[in-house]
Amino acid sequence: MENIGHAGREIVERIMPKDVAIKRVAELRAAKAKEYDVRLQIATEIIDIAYGFFTPLEGFMTKADVTAVCDNITLADGKTVWSIPIVFDISEEELKSTGIQKDDTVILTYTGNPLAIFDVTDVFTLDKKDVAMKVYATTEEKHPGVKRTYNYKDKFLGGKITLLNPPKINPPYTEFWLTPLMMRERFKEKGWVRIVNHQTRNVPHTGHEWLCKGAWLQTYGELSIEKPIVGVLVNAIIGEKRVGDYIDEAIILTHDKLRTAGYFGEHNHMTSCTLWDMRYAGPREAVFHACLRTNLGLTHHMYGRDHAGVGSYYGPYDAHHMLAKVRDGLNITPTYSMNWLYCPHCGEITSEGLCDHKKEWQKFSGTVVRSIIIDGVKPPRLIYRPEVFDVIMETAEKYGFGSAFVTEDYLKRRTPVFTIEPLK
Ligand SMILES: [Zn+2]
Repeated sequence: MENIGHAGREIVERIMPKDVAIKRVAELRAAKAKEYDVRLQIATEIIDIAYGFFTPLEGFMTKADVTAVCDNITLADGKTVWSIPIVFDISEEELKSTGIQKDDTVILTYTGNPLAIFDVTDVFTLDKKDVAMKVYATTEEKHPGVKRTYNYKDKFLGGKITLLNPPKINPPYTEFWLTPLMMRERFKEKGWVRIVNHQTRNVPHTGHEWLCKGAWLQTYGELSIEKPIVGVLVNAIIGEKRVGDYIDEAIILTHDKLRTAGYFGEHNHMTSCTLWDMRYAGPREAVFHACLRTNLGLTHHMYGRDHAGVGSYYGPYDAHHMLAKVRDGLNITPTYSMNWLYCPHCGEITSEGLCDHKKEWQKFSGTVVRSIIIDGVKPPRLIYRPEVFDVIMETAEKYGFGSAFVTEDYLKRRTPVFTIEPLK
């Protein structure tokens, strides 16, 4: 039962062994199969599907699935909870020029090299405004998820995919990219029986560190503390970046440093990354994260205020309410956390509602924290652990062209997270 993921389903792995894949591509090409070169987002989602990150999905959604996701937060079966459409878009012109139609077996390539086989079972259109309203609760184009929806091309293809060619995950991500099955192996080695997820797009200040420590304590619950049986998994979402975000390299390497510098240990902390372009769908993204992390083998998931939100589109606890609504369809336990902040009176990091010095509390303000990093002057260790701060500065130099934050330059010149090499 250990390979069971979201909705009690066995983890999907749709990967063709290399020798079989080489033959299959040759056969398909000899039979003049249609080919289509996908863009980065689609390539990323193909990889996610093929390794079971999106279990029980075996491919891109059909119209029936998308409709059910939008209307009922389930797949077309009416019972499997799913909150975000996973779609393959294509333009009318591309459909014409490639000749792709329903029931075709298509070779999907990325950067010109074979990536996957796509068995197309549905060709359809969507009312994008309707999708935006239902998934994001707004139709405003300045919401990044809505913008992504509007930018989809006009036609969609549904059907199963099978990976032909595993991605080469480039440094520094290589060791952190763990598939759902690999993850389960690690957890088994560590003997963890409960694992709590920390979702992150940040480099950790001490408030984040304590968020994880608080969740670790919460997850322990009634368990005996005799041996290390509860772990924190920091699962960094690596994907499309916006100018001003932290660079991916800094996010993953700083979190890892918290463990190697001893603020956590091998017995209770692990860092990994998952490829996903954030949709900033707030409550619906919270549900999606629950499904994703169940597939990673986790038992608990931290949710703070305004989880995966953007701007002021969602209330601070909307995600919590949505999770409660679909609770029966999820098999992961949410742990709700308060904000951690600095209390000068206690001289320590504290949680909202913990000590009685509310008037003195100093919140970690995003602006202050960013200006500390931009100044590059080592802050007090109660804000940033010195080892973590060093890693921020190093990664800025090594990967960020001098900046820990995404710039236009970084977007143009960064090393891709993965590459698809020729199939041979
Ligand atoms: Zn206090």
